[in-house]
Amino acid sequence: MIRINRKINSDPPEILVTKGDAETEKLKAEFNSDNLDFKFKPNIYGHKQVKKTIIDLQNNKCCFCESSFNHVSPGDVEHYRPKAGWIQNKEKVNKPGYYWLTYNWDNLFVSCEICNRENKKNFFPLSNPSQRALNHNQNILDEEPLFIHPVNDDPELYIAFIDEIAITINGNARGNVTIEKLGLNRLTLNDDRRKNLEFIKVIYNLALGHPETNQRQAAKEFLINFQTDETEYASMLRSYFLKNPINF
Ligand SMILES: [Zn+2]
Repeated sequence: MIRINRKINSDPPEILVTKGDAETEKLKAEFNSDNLDFKFKPNIYGHKQVKKTIIDLQNNKCCFCESSFNHVSPGDVEHYRPKAGWIQNKEKVNKPGYYWLTYNWDNLFVSCEICNRENKKNFFPLSNPSQRALNHNQNILDEEPLFIHPVNDDPELYIAFIDEIAITINGNARGNVTIEKLGLNRLTLNDDRRKNLEFIKVIYNLALGHPETNQRQAAKEFLINFQTDETEYASMLRSYFLKNPINF
């Protein structure tokens, strides 16, 4: 998981403003009149304009596991704070969810289906559950979410890697919960990360053992490019290069 830079394109996609804001006001009014049978509009929060903007900003990767999914699957528009209901731990889904953030730009990401449907689902644990914002009259800024936010937090301060295995830095709770609840060490994901890492290790060791020539220089530049945000599993590779610097 890496921090997604939205500063390069900080304005929300237009439809979230032109239509999303009005829908949000409707949802708030429904809550105020005790009508909790909310109808969310995926044609607004999941509009192709919104999805494309998010996917571009995420470099075609899942906001959580950093898999490049977009060539084989459309991915899910993901609400960081779940819109329809939330789960702190193992209880049944609590309703309503964060209905007033359904069309909120800070709350919208795109994830792969496995991260969203099989792992995150309605989980949104807090380290201070008594401070949870239960409706739009309460303040989400009083919450201390355990899930790392892909824009407002820097995930690489919480999660690092030993080879392909995600680990928490100094055992911090946010890293622990994010890895566990999002399945960031699931077997299939670790297999794919390991394949990528083995490929990088081969190039690294070849470059290291190669005399100083243009080929070695080319290999070093190749490796440097694998640390950028655009790379699949950039965070794992950056952990590797921290221990194996390209300074030879
Ligand atoms: Zn994912």
